[in-house]
Amino acid sequence: MKGEAGSMLHNEKPKQEGHIWGSMRRTAFILGSGLLLLVALWNSVTWHLQRFWGASGFFWQAQWERLLSTFEGKEWILFFIALGAIQVPFLFFWSFNGLLLVVDTTGKPNFISRYRIQMGKNEPVDPVRLRQSICTVLFNQCVVSLPMVTFLYPFLKWWGDPCRRELPTFHWFLLELVIFTLIEEVMFYYSHRLLHYPTFYKKIHKKHHEWTAPIGVIALYAHPIEHVVSNMLPAMLGPVLMGSHLSSITIWFSLALIITTISHCGYHLPFLPSPEFHDYHHLKFTQCYGVLGVLDHLHGTDTVFKQTKAYERHILLLGFTPLSESIPDSPKKME
Ligand SMILES: [Zn+2]
Ligand SMILES: [Zn+2]
Repeated sequence: MKGEAGSMLHNEKPKQEGHIWGSMRRTAFILGSGLLLLVALWNSVTWHLQRFWGASGFFWQAQWERLLSTFEGKEWILFFIALGAIQVPFLFFWSFNGLLLVVDTTGKPNFISRYRIQMGKNEPVDPVRLRQSICTVLFNQCVVSLPMVTFLYPFLKWWGDPCRRELPTFHWFLLELVIFTLIEEVMFYYSHRLLHYPTFYKKIHKKHHEWTAPIGVIALYAHPIEHVVSNMLPAMLGPVLMGSHLSSITIWFSLALIITTISHCGYHLPFLPSPEFHDYHHLKFTQCYGVLGVLDHLHGTDTVFKQTKAYERHILLLGFTPLSESIPDSPKKME
């Protein structure tokens, strides 16, 4: 027996080496073919989009040139009033939130309210609290965001004219979106964690956390300092560094506002990004600080979240059955 065990131990090493080598080869094969598949898929997707973009690209270029000739010498009007790095995104924000507010205040239509994440909360939302919150949001948009973007214009003009004649190419715009998203993730995560330090939390961030079950407009319900540090700067830095075109800035700000609204809206709706991550942050405070969740994974600030039903539900819903029904809370322990 002893000898057998000894020979097994003796034989174990080369076997294990073979095993490791084999698994390394397997991993390389999987990664390699995965990468090839991704490149092929990416190329075909961008080819189709490029074709669409190319066809409509001439149209948009012509429209843009017409606008430019109308406002020749007064391009700042385009930046602020006519197109506006602020006006268009705010229009998107309020149109989307207008629809959500109908559901929040009336609980109807049922085909939306049935996707509510925190059952029994905001049914309906407190009108006094809502009115006060909307006033804060409007204050942040008009008194904080507007002057910040005003200050941005001369800087962008010097760095790389945002109202230049040439619209960005489709590939360049995609690259910009990726870079903006990564910068946003890093800056939002660390500034947000800083805001959770007791001193900053009490004086600044507590306001945003008054809503433990958030609704769409709460995306911009924050102390003005938080609005500057955690909302505006992370979204503005990307376009500043890249010397972006007004069209890229407008689309990016609009997208950022729509996505932050979705992450606060309180409904896990089909075919839209999952809001479970940030909703859980509002519920539990000390988990899920980021946007994408990459930095939370690296810093381990999502470990409790990963043991919850909310984490199981943190997927893109590709059907019409609410996730609260398909993945119900466990009867004993409510998350
Ligand atoms: Zn929030
Ligand atoms: Zn927070």
